Amino acid sequence: MARPAPLLTLRNALGYLFILKELIIYQTRLVLDMAKFVFVTGGVLSSVGKGILTSSIGKMLQARGYTLSVVKIDPYVNVDAGTMNPYMHGEVFVTDDGGETDLDLGHYERFLDISIPKFNNITTGQVYASVIAKERKGEYLGRCVQIIPHITDEIKSRIKSAAKMAGTDVLLVEIGGTVGDIESQPFFEAVRQMRLEEGFENTLFVHIALVPILDVTKEQKSKPFQHSVQELRRIGLQPDILVARCRDPMEEAVKKKISLFGSVPLDAVFTSYDAESIYQVPLELDKQGMGNYIVKRLCLKDGKPEWDPWVSIAKSFMKASKVVRIGMCGKYTKLADSYVSITEALHHSAAKVGVQASIEWIETTKFEEDTSAVCTLDQYQGIMVLPGFGARGTEGKIMAINYARENKKPFLGICYGFQLAIVEFARNVLGYAGADTTEVSPGTKYPVIDFLPEQKTIGVMGGTMRLGAYKIILEKGTLAYKLYGATEIYERHRHRYEVNPEYWKALEQSGLVLSGWSPDKKRVEFMEHPGHPFFLGTQAHPEFKSRPGRPSPPYLGFVEAAAKLVT
Ligand code: GLN
Repeated sequence: MARPAPLLTLRNALGYLFILKELIIYQTRLVLDMAKFVFVTGGVLSSVGKGILTSSIGKMLQARGYTLSVVKIDPYVNVDAGTMNPYMHGEVFVTDDGGETDLDLGHYERFLDISIPKFNNITTGQVYASVIAKERKGEYLGRCVQIIPHITDEIKSRIKSAAKMAGTDVLLVEIGGTVGDIESQPFFEAVRQMRLEEGFENTLFVHIALVPILDVTKEQKSKPFQHSVQELRRIGLQPDILVARCRDPMEEAVKKKISLFGSVPLDAVFTSYDAESIYQVPLELDKQGMGNYIVKRLCLKDGKPEWDPWVSIAKSFMKASKVVRIGMCGKYTKLADSYVSITEALHHSAAKVGVQASIEWIETTKFEEDTSAVCTLDQYQGIMVLPGFGARGTEGKIMAINYARENKKPFLGICYGFQLAIVEFARNVLGYAGADTTEVSPGTKYPVIDFLPEQKTIGVMGGTMRLGAYKIILEKGTLAYKLYGATEIYERHRHRYEVNPEYWKALEQSGLVLSGWSPDKKRVEFMEHPGHPFFLGTQAHPEFKSRPGRPSPPYLGFVEAAAKLVT
């Protein structure tokens, strides 16, 4: 007679323990209201649209009533984006709390209408800096400090802290770079471990990669996609959802191939195809069933999404027939991403006004080489002088400002553009020959723009500018006040220089209006020229707070004024 199977073998004891552990995790999550995690990775090439996909996932969850925050992981060794050239890496996005972060945080803020803290931009530099600091303090007590577990523990603890700080239902985590990058490895390993720790139904991996279309055969090619999923699996990550970035919707046969080789169900494969505006992308993905799939997979309560407000916002971005041409004078004009918050603020404004903004880049060095070329500015309905640093192109920018002021062209000067508008006025109206910012001419006789007092003693470059949101008081009866409709506003900043107090009086006496101040009246924040249809400069960067459907007031006023010139 066969012996009855023992009730408690080692094997089923382990099984019971596992179920118990899962039960405890599940209960604790319910009681502590812990976040679910969605990780977004990318393959084949960079700039494949991870930022827009992450934002769109957020939007789909928001439409279903869920709260969320977002973390961006940047695997480079810099501590933050502040010291990186925008020409190489795109815009430096400034957060309310003064972080100099990756431009994707701007996409998240704009799509989701949330404010993201600087802590949510994790870099290799930060992770190593804190592990090394702990090692020096003796916190590892004689142990050998290693990538696994010490670096990966630090990464996990940062992600989990971000979730705790946000206190939201879901935390989205976008891993920058491409699967296979050497720098990304510890981050992929950390999130692999997080699936074990947080549980299957609390973590979701979404992978996006390019599906190119060959010009000759017009065929959609899935092989690079398959390879990038294989690379993910090689490091222990099985994606749950696959998103193909493709010009057109994906053909069924290609989708089936990706599902089969990627080892995910067919209804977990989606296409992010070219849309008329980026704000259309969440709607397109949700139509394919992505929102419902995510909610189900994360064991969240499903409900009918509320899209109405977003649909009308997205619709306002559909191409309008009236085109407003904006001339953009800047230094990093070869990479449109260098000024992405500014171009978005212009598009938000154009959508509100019901026109289309044609954003055209101008290298101002060409005015320096041939002064008569300034007249070409006539073709634009509005002129912007963009934020920037250093001497290159500044004389040309000052010429453009002069043109806008004298020819009554709508003008918007942001940060450096504001400072150079002060220089232009000092030179051409006050008659201060050679007036300048000390950033360009340290020995100028008329330093109308000079170091902020606290900057004079600063020796290190990283994170030391005047950064983040500060209160500004607007003078009643000015253009700035009219635009904002309030005397107290908050805008974000990123600068080392400002209007020199010694020249305030002379500027004002000659008719320039200083219309916005810091609350202690020690700093100028806005300037304008009364009598001009629209001439506004600000030390701040209002573009960082512009939202689709709720454009930044200076940008809206500027585009409105420019639109009036279109016949
Ligand atoms: N270079 C100027 C400053 O540091 C302007 C900076 C900017 O445009 N963000 O003050």
